[in-house]
Amino acid sequence: MKKGYFGKFGGCFVPELLMPPLLELEKAMADILPTESFQKELDDLLVHYAGRKTPITFCPTLSEKYGFEIWLKREDLLHTGAHKINNTLGQALLAKYMGKTALIAETGAGQHGVATAAAAARLGMDCTIYMGAEDVERQSSNVRRMRLLGAEVRPIENGSRTLKDAINAALRAWISSQKTTHYCFGTAAGPYPFPQLVRDFQSVIGREARSQMLEETGSLPDYVVAAVGGGSNAIGMFHAFVPDGEVNIIGVEAGGTGEPGCLNSAAINLGVPGVLHGEYTMLLQDREGQILPSGSISAGLDYPGVGPEHVHLSTSGRVQYTIAYDRDALNAFQALCHDEGILPALESSHALGYVLAHPEEFRRGSRVLINLSGRGDKDMDIIEHALGL
Ligand SMILES: *Cc1c(COP(=O)(O)O)cnc(C)c1O
Repeated sequence: MKKGYFGKFGGCFVPELLMPPLLELEKAMADILPTESFQKELDDLLVHYAGRKTPITFCPTLSEKYGFEIWLKREDLLHTGAHKINNTLGQALLAKYMGKTALIAETGAGQHGVATAAAAARLGMDCTIYMGAEDVERQSSNVRRMRLLGAEVRPIENGSRTLKDAINAALRAWISSQKTTHYCFGTAAGPYPFPQLVRDFQSVIGREARSQMLEETGSLPDYVVAAVGGGSNAIGMFHAFVPDGEVNIIGVEAGGTGEPGCLNSAAINLGVPGVLHGEYTMLLQDREGQILPSGSISAGLDYPGVGPEHVHLSTSGRVQYTIAYDRDALNAFQALCHDEGILPALESSHALGYVLAHPEEFRRGSRVLINLSGRGDKDMDIIEHALGL
């Protein structure tokens, strides 16, 4: 495979001025990541600060109702409430080893901003978060959390004033600050080497889950399911299972309301190939190549592109990519609350939502492992509004 590519997808399509920090990062990945001191320090942070390892939880009531076993990997129990801290601790520590003193990051819903701000505070680094002005207004509680954690939040007024504009602003800011600053990218997408780097830090999810399933059930799961936004929790879950040919792997994209022509975030299912944020991938764009606005009830899945490794896993047929709609996610959210006493993030609710909306696709008596990427407290206002509560 060509360096930096997954099949035809990925690569590094950036202005010349961004090449030095990306090459520096590639070198740090090779020189620092494998060392015992780095791995030991990261492991210590993951265990004693973030709360790893996370358990797997069997869902007795839902399993009884649906006729197959439903298991959850509990990333919702991590510090800051989602899988994102696996990546931000990894990148922050790597940046520190590289001699950087500051982090910048983009954020959409604010979850990655909060996880970056926490990692920066813990490791004694400065932190600036770029966030679309529209998102700053919509996600005020996460903005407050970031500020309390010591980060500066910069609202971006360009374009659609959302995530994609925040990424463009952060990439631009990195050009002038690269000597002291690391860009802590939030998902398994963007220019090489970010998709590989973020996957490496998130793949702890699947490594743990695979051995936990073996230990607790005596066999691998028959199905592994995760929600796909940019793709970091999903690739983190899938990576360890890709070589296990007998395990069916399913990625779930957000289909929005499902009405014809509605906004959605299903880049693999509904997009076309193109270049965005430094990578060649599948994108929601119009015939002139303009990026279309994406949309989903779940702010964290709301991204018009997707990480290149997922596109490759789709093209090769190893992973099946499907769609869950807003109503599927809401139904799954309610089911998990009422039947199992767990309040899931709306993103993760898409993964469960697909399973519960299509039970006929899962063999009776089989075992389904779902990545519960985050907790849902952040989504309560949206959910109560959508359910008319
Ligand atoms: C950000 C987020 C996602 C989507 O991002 P990926 O990179 O696709 O994982 C999913 N779940 C939760 C809880 C999130 O916060």
